[in-house]
Amino acid sequence: MEDVERVKAEALQVMGLFQVLPRLVVFDLDYTLWPFYCECPSKNDTPSLFPHSRGILHALKHQRIDVAIASKSPTPDIATTYLHKLSIRSMFVAEEIFYSWTHKTDHFQKILSKTGVPYNSMLFFDDDDNNIQQISKIGVTSILVRNGLDLEAFRNGLAKFSQNGNRSKKNKQKRPN
Ligand SMILES: [Mg+2]
Repeated sequence: MEDVERVKAEALQVMGLFQVLPRLVVFDLDYTLWPFYCECPSKNDTPSLFPHSRGILHALKHQRIDVAIASKSPTPDIATTYLHKLSIRSMFVAEEIFYSWTHKTDHFQKILSKTGVPYNSMLFFDDDDNNIQQISKIGVTSILVRNGLDLEAFRNGLAKFSQNGNRSKKNKQKRPN
């Protein structure tokens, strides 16, 4: 059962631990927000999220941190139908769902141009290590999720983001005036 309020409260607590937070959090869909490939089931199925996904999304919204989607699903119509059925579609400031040969670099270019948020202010969760490697290279803090998005992955992501943020801050301070 989804215990949305409990997860939201815990996620807010976790966010309180870090001084530097991302401005935008980007999520993959299949096996990150929900436990299936959305090209397999049909539009008429009733989809479900991983148990912590909704609470984490609500906590980010509560903190006024934007959320976006970067998905290579070959069936964007099914993906968007599911987002709608799950009543979360309106939460996302950018929804990039299209198949591509790249490891989501073109998804991130579109998200950047739509939101204006620089890569080093983004945090990204995905279950595919190829995407994680590639998107890390362009400067986005990227976290591999192994069993879907959960509070543990969320905390790890914020911790890594905070470390990366602190590092760039220190670099700035080191620069001569
Ligand atoms: Mg996936």
